[in-house]
Amino acid sequence: MSQAKSFSNNVNIMFDRAADLVDISPGLREKIRVCNATYTSRFGVRLRGEVHTFIGYRAVHSEHMEPVKGGIRYASSVNQDEVEALAALMTYKCALVDVPFGGSKGGLCIDPRVYSTDELEKVTRRFAAELIKRDLIHPAQNVPAPDMGTGEREMAWIADQYSQMRPTDIDAKACVTGKPLIMGGIAGRTEATGRGIQYALREFFRDSTDVTRAGLSGSLDGKRIIVQGLGNVGYHAAKFLSQEDGAVITTVIERDGAVSAESGIDIGALKNWTQENGGVSGFPASKYTSPLEAALEQECDILIPAATEGVIHAGNATKIRAPLIIEAANGPITSDADQILREKNCVIIPDLYANAGGVTVSYFEWVKNLSHMRFGRMQRRENEARNELIIRELDSLSSALGKAWAPSASFRKEFKAGANEIDLVRSGLDDTMRKALQEMRAVLQDKDGVSDFRTAAYLVAIEKIAESYRVRGH
Ligand code: GLU
Repeated sequence: MSQAKSFSNNVNIMFDRAADLVDISPGLREKIRVCNATYTSRFGVRLRGEVHTFIGYRAVHSEHMEPVKGGIRYASSVNQDEVEALAALMTYKCALVDVPFGGSKGGLCIDPRVYSTDELEKVTRRFAAELIKRDLIHPAQNVPAPDMGTGEREMAWIADQYSQMRPTDIDAKACVTGKPLIMGGIAGRTEATGRGIQYALREFFRDSTDVTRAGLSGSLDGKRIIVQGLGNVGYHAAKFLSQEDGAVITTVIERDGAVSAESGIDIGALKNWTQENGGVSGFPASKYTSPLEAALEQECDILIPAATEGVIHAGNATKIRAPLIIEAANGPITSDADQILREKNCVIIPDLYANAGGVTVSYFEWVKNLSHMRFGRMQRRENEARNELIIRELDSLSSALGKAWAPSASFRKEFKAGANEIDLVRSGLDDTMRKALQEMRAVLQDKDGVSDFRTAAYLVAIEKIAESYRVRGH
């Protein structure tokens, strides 16, 4: 049996497929592909009366734009190859969606479930200090964010650690994104990756050629979806798609098994259930199955792998029945599986596009931190006043016409309202997701040799990175 390819190998194979179609010198191509540097830290933290040594990484894949950006992951499986692969994906993702960052990623080998909150804080602050000392956390150079196993809480500790070590840095808050609102976070960051999945699917379904390519028809309404992973990304994507777009979540796959219900699963109720019971097993009005693999292979319209890398591989790809897969996780489909699925005409909306909502809203948060003001603070009431003027004008017009028509109360309310931060974040995210898919679509339609969205996405990203090197004269 052939040895399984590493995560970095998989990313590089996907990169090479697209790079073969780009007019680029071999030297520049290699420069874009390689990971610039990876810092490994082995640090000790005294816990429970004993010093424990932890291993953490921060990989910097490309500095063609700075700061470099990417989350910090906590998991016992974290390793150098994984963070380097994830850092590469960050480079391509940021380029594709026009977020002006290079790619980075961090990871700490730790199972956060076996430590108390105080212990995790101690370990996080120590890891952050190691990175801050070396400018591997810095508002202008390297800006981490949440990833698997981390969230607002860890980002708050990191931001606080940075401001303690760099008290005169006026831009200290911009050293990390995904912070709680009270610490300079932005409305809508926690839900951003899930929201991005929703916007990506909405844009996909706006084009009937794409929908037909996947062997589907109509809109998202009524589409039957399998979600793998009910963490931050899977939960928000499933919640928005079922509550706002009429999609039906027929199966949710979690660590302990899968639950299915043909009429649809109430995602909010399932989330509460898993928090109280530690898994999906026993969730009312659903069918429980284990092992998990079989659930991925169930019939559906859309499959959303939203957990971790490599879940769809050469061993199960032939059995996947979904005609459309959207990669909410990073790297859930291996390069071998990708080939098998393409041969089966399965349409894949790739990770570097699909889950870019998180870093996009991180970008907005970083800009907010540098401007030291929340979005909408200056314009909101001014916009309301102007809209009020238009409504008054409409009122006098309708009275001049003898009350033949007057704006409805709901129109008045909606039209008048000025945009606040969450409205602007959603607008910016929606625009980003639409534009990037439109660019990929144009490549898919016009470029010879491109027949899938992943190659199109890499191609758009590589061309933008190459151009940024070229204009600098490299
Ligand atoms: N960890 C997320 C990702 O993989 C977000 C990164 C960020 O916001 O910098 O895209």
